[in-house]
Amino acid sequence: MTSISEETESISRQAKAVVFWFTGLSGAGKSTISEAVSVEMSKLGIQNYVLDGDKIRRGLCSDLGFSHDDRTENIRRIGEVAKLLCDAGVVTLVAFISPYMADRDNVRGILDKGKFVEIFVDCPLEVCEQRDVKGLYQKARKGEIANFTGISDPYEVPANPEIHLRTDQSDVSDCVKKIIKYYLHQ
Ligand code: ADP
Repeated sequence: MTSISEETESISRQAKAVVFWFTGLSGAGKSTISEAVSVEMSKLGIQNYVLDGDKIRRGLCSDLGFSHDDRTENIRRIGEVAKLLCDAGVVTLVAFISPYMADRDNVRGILDKGKFVEIFVDCPLEVCEQRDVKGLYQKARKGEIANFTGISDPYEVPANPEIHLRTDQSDVSDCVKKIIKYYLHQ
């Protein structure tokens, strides 16, 4: 069996920029996996960039909150930025909860066919809550944070994601391999 790096040497030059759109609950693993994919792609000489929810919310979208309308506008802006990066030939890794199916589908709609690769970072709420990486679930349960996805706000599960990861069952490196393989064989 050939290794990922061997396969990449022959295929990476022909591979095209796409938007990998990581969606899932807080703590599911979107940031962890997208950063790990970025490191792996950089090692392989694939130009890439991570758009991470927390960082974007501190800058480009700092005027937005977590109401349905604000979440929709947040995703619309990120979608437009992702499209620009993708047009420039950069593999764009977008790590946002993006809880609404319609908002994700709108981004799919502004990109050329095949450019939007939805990755469902699937992890049961109980596991995300146990991880509670940022202590946000505890605050949400106490009512200190309103509109918290999975607790007091909905999460609409992707109907037909291109990639489905179960982060409570597979480790980070398996998830990364699955994404790189998808990219190389698209
Ligand atoms: P999100 O970006 O979805 O809010 P984070 O990536 O910030 O989630 O946090 C996910 C947490 O779960 C990290 O502490 C990470 O180490 C842990 N984790 C355990 N298993 C996995 C896995 N298979 N994939 C991603 N993260 C995992």
